[in-house]
Amino acid sequence: MSSIRSRLTTGYAAALAGTMLVFALVLYAARRASSYEELQRYVTAEANIVIGIIRQAELEGRPLTQLRDSLAGPTVTPTLSQLLDGVPDYVVVLGRDDIILYRSPAVRQLLDIGYSQLIGRGSEVPVTGPGQLASIQNEQVLIVARAPPDPQSQISRVVVAASTQSADLAIAELFGTMLIIAPILLLASVGIAYAISSRAFRQVDRLINEVQAITDGRSLHRRLPVESSGDELTRLAVTLNEMMARLETSFAGLRRFTADASHELKTPLAVLRADVERAMSPNSSRTEKMVALEEALQETTRMADLVGSLLTLARADEGRFDLHREWVDLEPLVREVFETAHILGEEGGLEVTMPTVTPTAVMGDRTRLRQLFLNLVTNAIKYTPRDGSVEITLSKTGRTATLSVRDTGIGISAADLPHVFERFYRADRARSRTAERGGFGLGLAISQWIAEAHGGTIAVRSRFGRGSTFTVTIPTAEEPTGEISAIDDRGALEEGLDQDSESRRS
Ligand code: ADP
Repeated sequence: MSSIRSRLTTGYAAALAGTMLVFALVLYAARRASSYEELQRYVTAEANIVIGIIRQAELEGRPLTQLRDSLAGPTVTPTLSQLLDGVPDYVVVLGRDDIILYRSPAVRQLLDIGYSQLIGRGSEVPVTGPGQLASIQNEQVLIVARAPPDPQSQISRVVVAASTQSADLAIAELFGTMLIIAPILLLASVGIAYAISSRAFRQVDRLINEVQAITDGRSLHRRLPVESSGDELTRLAVTLNEMMARLETSFAGLRRFTADASHELKTPLAVLRADVERAMSPNSSRTEKMVALEEALQETTRMADLVGSLLTLARADEGRFDLHREWVDLEPLVREVFETAHILGEEGGLEVTMPTVTPTAVMGDRTRLRQLFLNLVTNAIKYTPRDGSVEITLSKTGRTATLSVRDTGIGISAADLPHVFERFYRADRARSRTAERGGFGLGLAISQWIAEAHGGTIAVRSRFGRGSTFTVTIPTAEEPTGEISAIDDRGALEEGLDQDSESRRS
């Protein structure tokens, strides 16, 4: 029984059989009670008729008994006996001192043992209330005893017994009918249940086949058909479609990431190889060898930077980078970054200013925050031509600290703007790669991760040719509460961080 369909049908059949059994038992009990009640009424009616006949004779003043045989004692008169013979079943009329005055034809046919059983039980049964079941000559009977209402009557009690066979027969008939009908009903219901579940599961089968076809790896762009019924399977299809869309995006991202990373490593490796070859060439002069080796060293540093950034992002993706949170006063941090920016700006012929610095503090990782601010500032300097300006401001609005870096540089086109935070994305590839401080397009991706890891945001506004403004917001911290979480792999973090920071500063 592997399929849900079979399990459902079996479960349904078992539940139905159980219900039918309980129903049959209840019906049996109810039918039995009503059959016995009916029999009780019938036997009581017989006893009342016998009493009625005797009473009628008494009222009319007719003699009830006669003494035919002094040894056997008195018996009812033949006229009365004839009348009483009309009552079927076992009837015994007892006179005073429990003398037996009348026995019906059925009683007369009983063997001695049966007769004494009847008389024995008949004298025990109370004359009011319901009768009692007894076994007379291996026959199950219901015995009812009644006394005439007149205390002066010559009759003391009338005992009537009738076989329970008719009541049992009715119950047996009912049981027999149920035994025939129940399996038919059960089979029919199970068949219908199987057909209904088959219909429902046909849709599941179709869904499974579709998903199998899609998840072979090459068809992730395909989607499952979604019906308008809105049932569970439709919701499942919608959920699977959403999941596949996310998988498709992340697979595409992964492919792009691997391709980009390989591509970024390819160029410095080629340069490195050429440099080493040049340095090893017997025809190169000593100066040429030194130049080649210096270039090789620069390329190695670039590659180390790239690998460091990739490691940072990979760890961030895995969630393995816990932040070393502490209370950080942003003002000195931003001033420190400003000083670095000032030196870099002077080298590039730019004016770097910091008109507003509002003292504010956050709970965060000081080193990571410095890396984030430096990334933005070095980018502003990198993408702003000579004689331009860069403005850094630190402000506080409510419970949010805001750092913004505004430049009058080359700006970012509307087409590039939505992508600048993507990994390896460079708006002007040729230019940034050949530029003096050409990056890999990972700086903003790392910056975004740092901002978000601090519960903050990073946003950009830019006009092509006019300049850009990058804004970071981070929730503020009121009180210096000290360190609350320790970093997982502190050594590795600082190592990777130093490399990243260096790449920005150099
Ligand atoms: P990179 O190392 O190439 O600077 P980033 O991730 O820091 O990588 O930036 C991604 C791209 O966004 C850059 O290549 C550049 O095209 C664009 N960009 C970033 N900052 C600025 C800026 N201040 N002005 C103009 N363009 C920028």
